[in-house]
Amino acid sequence: MNIILLGPPGAGKGTQARKLVDERGMIQLSTGDMLREARTSGTEMGKRVAAIMDAGELVTDEIVIGLIEEKIQGDNGGGFIFDGFPRTLGQADALGDLLAKYKQHLDHVIEMRVDDTALVNRIVGRFTCGNCGEVYHKDTKPTKKDGVCDVCGSEDLKHRADDNEESLRTRLMEYYKKTSPLIGYYYANGKLSSVNGLAEIDKVASSIAAILD
Ligand code: AMP
Repeated sequence: MNIILLGPPGAGKGTQARKLVDERGMIQLSTGDMLREARTSGTEMGKRVAAIMDAGELVTDEIVIGLIEEKIQGDNGGGFIFDGFPRTLGQADALGDLLAKYKQHLDHVIEMRVDDTALVNRIVGRFTCGNCGEVYHKDTKPTKKDGVCDVCGSEDLKHRADDNEESLRTRLMEYYKKTSPLIGYYYANGKLSSVNGLAEIDKVASSIAAILD
């Protein structure tokens, strides 16, 4: 089963994707994570995208479509979770073409609905483990032991460079201008379901499970 998690930055797409990986053996394909990896590897592409990401703008469709094509050619295990992709209508069309090319099918698009005012708090308090990728929040999901990841024990806890109010405003603007039309796009092709992304993490997970099952 292949699904898309759709929603603005801070909606909880990454958190829910990680639960689906743990519980169902699905494969998370986060273009944001792939781009962050590319920028730390110091490649030409990494250098080009770093400034764009820090400003909160979208990188070109060509780059992210290329990253996704590399990943979806192999075995899809328990299915792919597209997290943060597609983000434009061009990317959505390209994903449809790629899935057809590799004989895959899109089963569900899950829109995570959240209220904009909640996003600022969610984003500004967020930090992640540099080793295993677990996502935390200073108020709602702190680590059990200060400065140590609950999952893998790493002390490499990081705050993302683009998780600040100024960059978030640009990211939200990009979302409303370029990504939110995808809600209509996937509604029209009969794939869209919505969940309340403001509910507790486990409640959101149950709503998603109800759609998938
Ligand atoms: P995310 O981790 O999904 O919030 O993505 C972080 C940043 O990576 C975004 O603000 C964009 O600059 C870039 N990015 C991630 N996914 C995409 C995408 N599908 N299209 C364009 N830019 C992307």
